[in-house]
Amino acid sequence: TVSKFHGQRGKTEFGILDRCKELMEAGYNVRQPDKENVSLLHWAAINNHAEVVKYYISKGAVIDQLGGDLNSTPLHWAIRQGHLSMVIQLLRYGADPSVADGEGYRSLHLAILFQHMPIAAYLMAKGQEVDLPDSNGQTPLMLAAQKIIGPEPTNFLMKCNASVSAVDKVDRNSPLHCAVLAGNVDAAHILLEAGASVDAENANVRSPIHTLINPIRNDWITPTVCGAMLCPQPVSLHGPSATVQVLFTVNATALLYYYLRSCRTDPGIVKATEEEKKMNVVLLAEAGCLDPSIFCTSCMMKKPMRASHCFSCDACVAKQDHHSIWINGCIGARNHHFFVLFLLYLCLMGAWMFYGCLVYWSKHCPLHYQEEGVWGAISALVGCSSWVLGVFCLAFFHTSWASILLVIQLYQIAFYGLTNAEMANLVLRQRKLPQSISLRQNPYNLGVVRNLVSFFQLRCCGLFKPAMVDWTQQYPPGRDHMFGQPDIV
Ligand SMILES: [Zn+2]
Ligand SMILES: [Zn+2]
Repeated sequence: TVSKFHGQRGKTEFGILDRCKELMEAGYNVRQPDKENVSLLHWAAINNHAEVVKYYISKGAVIDQLGGDLNSTPLHWAIRQGHLSMVIQLLRYGADPSVADGEGYRSLHLAILFQHMPIAAYLMAKGQEVDLPDSNGQTPLMLAAQKIIGPEPTNFLMKCNASVSAVDKVDRNSPLHCAVLAGNVDAAHILLEAGASVDAENANVRSPIHTLINPIRNDWITPTVCGAMLCPQPVSLHGPSATVQVLFTVNATALLYYYLRSCRTDPGIVKATEEEKKMNVVLLAEAGCLDPSIFCTSCMMKKPMRASHCFSCDACVAKQDHHSIWINGCIGARNHHFFVLFLLYLCLMGAWMFYGCLVYWSKHCPLHYQEEGVWGAISALVGCSSWVLGVFCLAFFHTSWASILLVIQLYQIAFYGLTNAEMANLVLRQRKLPQSISLRQNPYNLGVVRNLVSFFQLRCCGLFKPAMVDWTQQYPPGRDHMFGQPDIV
C-alpha cells in the first residue's frame, strides 16, 4: 500500500508523491490507517517528505492523528527522528505540540529525551513552556536529569530558565532528586550551581542528600555526587571536625611539598669540566690509581667518597642511597632527607585513608563478620562501595612499601650513619670475613642522636650543631678508601 512507499529508500520524494497521488485518485482514503494503526501522514513525517505531507494535508489528513505502538502524532515521529524542518512544517499546519503520547511525553519532552536541542529551542520559541509537565507530572528538566547522563541537555534547559524547584505529581521529586537517583553527576553539578535545594523533601520525606546516603544506593557515584553537593553549599551533615580537616590539609600539603623537593632537588650529581676530566685521567693513571673504587669509567672522573655511579641517571651521585622509581631519580646527599620526610608523610597519608575508609564503612556498611566470615565481609564491602574499597586497596599498597622503606631507612641512618648502598656493600664484605665485626664501627657513625641531627640538619635554635659536609667535594686522601681497607670495618 501507500505507506510502503515511504519506507523505500532510493526513491525520490517526487517519485513517491506521484505514486501517492495516483493511489489517492484511485479512491484510497488518506485517513485510513494501516495494520499497525499508523496513518499516511505519520510515514511522510518520519521520512521527512515535505511535499507529500503538504499533499496529504490538502487531501484532509488529520494533523494530530494518534497512531503506532506508542500512540503518538506525526509531530512526535518527526521529533524523535530530529527532523526540524518537518517539525516547523507540521506546526504551521496546526499540529499541537502539547499533545502527550502513549508514554505521557509531550513534544518538548521528546526533543529533550532524544537530545534534539534545535527542535527543543524551536518548540520553546513557539510558546511551549519550559516547565510544562508531561502526563506523569515530570518537567523536561527532570527527564534530562534522570534519563540523559552528561551535562546536556540539563545545561541547555537551565539556560532556558527551567525551574529547579518543580516537583513531579507522583513522588514529588525535584530535578535534583532525579539526578541523584540516576547517579547523574554532571546534571547534579549543574543543578546545584543553579541553587537547587539539597533539603527539599519528596513524597517519601527524603531530601536529595538523604536519597544519596540511603543504603540502597551505594555505588561509586555516591561519593562523587556527595562531594558535589557538599562543595557549593555545606549542609548540616556530621562531616569531619575542624581539627581533622586542618591536620589532613597540613599532611596533604607536606606530602606534596616533600615529594616535589625530593624530585626537584639535585641529589648531589658530581660535575667536572672536560679539562678537569682529562687532567684527572692523566693524574690518576700516572699515579696508578685508576681503579674502579675511586675512578668512575662512565663519567671519566674521580669519585668523591661515598659517591656511586647511577646508570639510570648516567652520573655519579654524592652519598648515593639508591635510585628511586617513585621519584624517577636518585636519592643522594642533597635530597635524602626530603625523601625520608616524603616517606613519613606518605605513611601518615595512608593512615588518613584507612581512617576515612573505616569511618565510611562504620557509618554505611553494616558488617556481620561473626556470622558471614571473611568472604562474607569482603563481598559486603564490595557491595557497599567498590570505590571506597578501591581507595583502601590503593592506600594499603602505598602505605606498605612506604612504611617498610621508611623503617629500613631510619634504622640505617640512625644506628649506622650509612646509606643503603654502603650497607649492602658492607654486608657483602662482612660475609667474606672470617670473624664477624659490628657494622656500627664505621667512620661515618656518630651515634644515634648525632646521626639524626646531621642527617636532618636539625639545629633546634642552636641546641644542636649538625655536621656540614659537602659530599660532592670529599675525596679520599690517596689510595686509601673506606672499602679498600677491610680493617676499618
Ligand atoms: Zn659516574
Ligand atoms: Zn639514579
